[in-house]
Amino acid sequence: MQNIKKGDTVQVLKGKDRGKKGKVINVFAAAGKALVEGCQMAKKHRRQTRQDQKGGIISIEMPLAVSNLMIFCKHCSKPTRVGAMVLKDGTKTRVCKACKEVL
Ligand SMILES: [Zn+2]
Repeated sequence: MQNIKKGDTVQVLKGKDRGKKGKVINVFAAAGKALVEGCQMAKKHRRQTRQDQKGGIISIEMPLAVSNLMIFCKHCSKPTRVGAMVLKDGTKTRVCKACKEVL
Protein backbone atom coordinates (compact mmCIF):
# COMPACT_ATOMS: atom_id res chain seq x y z
CA MET A 1 0.00 0.00 0.00
CA GLN A 2 1.11 3.54 -0.66
CA ASN A 3 2.17 5.61 2.23
CA ILE A 4 -0.23 8.48 1.74
CA LYS A 5 -0.45 11.07 4.45
CA LYS A 6 -2.59 14.02 5.30
CA GLY A 7 -1.35 17.07 3.40
CA ASP A 8 0.08 15.09 0.47
CA THR A 9 -0.83 16.09 -3.05
CA VAL A 10 -2.22 13.10 -4.89
CA GLN A 11 -3.65 12.33 -8.28
CA VAL A 12 -6.75 10.20 -8.70
CA LEU A 13 -6.14 7.17 -10.91
CA LYS A 14 -9.62 5.72 -11.14
CA GLY A 15 -13.24 6.72 -10.99
CA LYS A 16 -15.12 9.81 -12.09
CA ASP A 17 -12.37 12.15 -10.94
CA ARG A 18 -9.59 10.30 -12.71
CA GLY A 19 -6.71 12.62 -13.44
CA LYS A 20 -7.71 15.16 -10.82
CA LYS A 21 -5.20 16.38 -8.34
CA GLY A 22 -5.90 17.38 -4.80
CA LYS A 23 -4.60 17.66 -1.32
CA VAL A 24 -5.25 14.83 1.10
CA ILE A 25 -7.53 16.16 3.81
CA ASN A 26 -7.75 13.02 5.88
CA VAL A 27 -6.61 9.42 5.81
CA PHE A 28 -8.56 6.48 7.15
CA ALA A 29 -5.77 3.97 7.47
CA ALA A 30 -7.92 1.14 8.79
CA ALA A 31 -10.29 1.41 5.82
CA GLY A 32 -7.52 2.09 3.30
CA LYS A 33 -9.26 5.27 2.24
CA ALA A 34 -8.47 8.93 2.03
CA LEU A 35 -10.34 12.17 1.56
CA VAL A 36 -8.97 14.30 -1.25
CA GLU A 37 -9.81 17.97 -1.55
CA GLY A 38 -12.21 18.61 -4.42
CA CYS A 39 -12.38 14.95 -5.50
CA GLN A 40 -15.23 12.48 -5.37
CA MET A 41 -17.67 15.23 -4.47
CA ALA A 42 -21.11 14.18 -3.44
CA LYS A 43 -24.19 16.18 -2.63
CA LYS A 44 -25.46 15.42 0.78
CA HIS A 45 -28.57 16.37 2.57
CA ARG A 46 -27.57 17.18 6.03
CA ARG A 47 -29.28 18.30 9.11
CA GLN A 48 -27.56 20.79 11.30
CA THR A 49 -25.76 18.70 13.85
CA ARG A 50 -23.22 21.21 15.03
CA GLN A 51 -23.34 24.97 15.28
CA ASP A 52 -20.58 25.41 12.73
CA GLN A 53 -22.34 23.28 10.14
CA LYS A 54 -25.04 24.47 7.84
CA GLY A 55 -28.10 22.40 7.20
CA GLY A 56 -29.49 21.68 3.75
CA ILE A 57 -27.69 20.37 0.69
CA ILE A 58 -23.95 20.55 0.79
CA SER A 59 -21.11 19.16 -1.29
CA ILE A 60 -18.62 17.04 0.51
CA GLU A 61 -15.70 14.89 -0.42
CA MET A 62 -16.22 11.16 -0.23
CA PRO A 63 -13.34 8.88 0.73
CA LEU A 64 -11.39 7.35 -2.15
CA ALA A 65 -9.57 4.04 -1.97
CA VAL A 66 -5.90 4.73 -1.36
CA SER A 67 -5.07 2.17 -4.07
CA ASN A 68 -6.72 4.52 -6.59
CA LEU A 69 -4.49 7.41 -5.59
CA MET A 70 -0.93 8.16 -6.42
CA ILE A 71 1.32 10.69 -4.77
CA PHE A 72 2.04 13.61 -7.05
CA CYS A 73 5.66 14.68 -7.19
CA LYS A 74 6.12 18.44 -7.36
CA HIS A 75 9.60 17.98 -8.77
CA CYS A 76 8.60 15.67 -11.65
CA SER A 77 5.13 17.23 -12.10
CA LYS A 78 3.60 13.79 -12.37
CA PRO A 79 2.28 11.01 -10.19
CA THR A 80 5.03 8.87 -8.84
CA ARG A 81 5.91 5.80 -6.88
CA VAL A 82 7.16 6.38 -3.40
CA GLY A 83 10.35 5.01 -1.98
CA ALA A 84 11.59 5.02 1.57
CA MET A 85 14.80 6.60 2.68
CA VAL A 86 16.47 6.77 6.07
CA LEU A 87 18.00 10.12 6.87
CA LYS A 88 21.31 10.58 8.65
CA ASP A 89 19.56 11.15 11.94
CA GLY A 90 17.68 7.87 11.59
CA THR A 91 14.28 9.25 10.68
CA LYS A 92 12.49 7.64 7.80
CA THR A 93 11.24 9.76 4.99
CA ARG A 94 9.51 9.21 1.70
CA VAL A 95 11.16 10.01 -1.58
CA CYS A 96 10.04 10.09 -5.18
CA LYS A 97 11.40 6.99 -6.88
CA ALA A 98 11.92 8.90 -10.09
CA CYS A 99 13.85 11.96 -8.91
CA LYS A 100 14.81 10.89 -5.36
CA GLU A 101 13.54 14.16 -3.97
CA VAL A 102 11.93 14.09 -0.54
CA LEU A 103 8.16 14.23 -0.79
ZN1 LIG B 1 9.90 13.23 -8.53
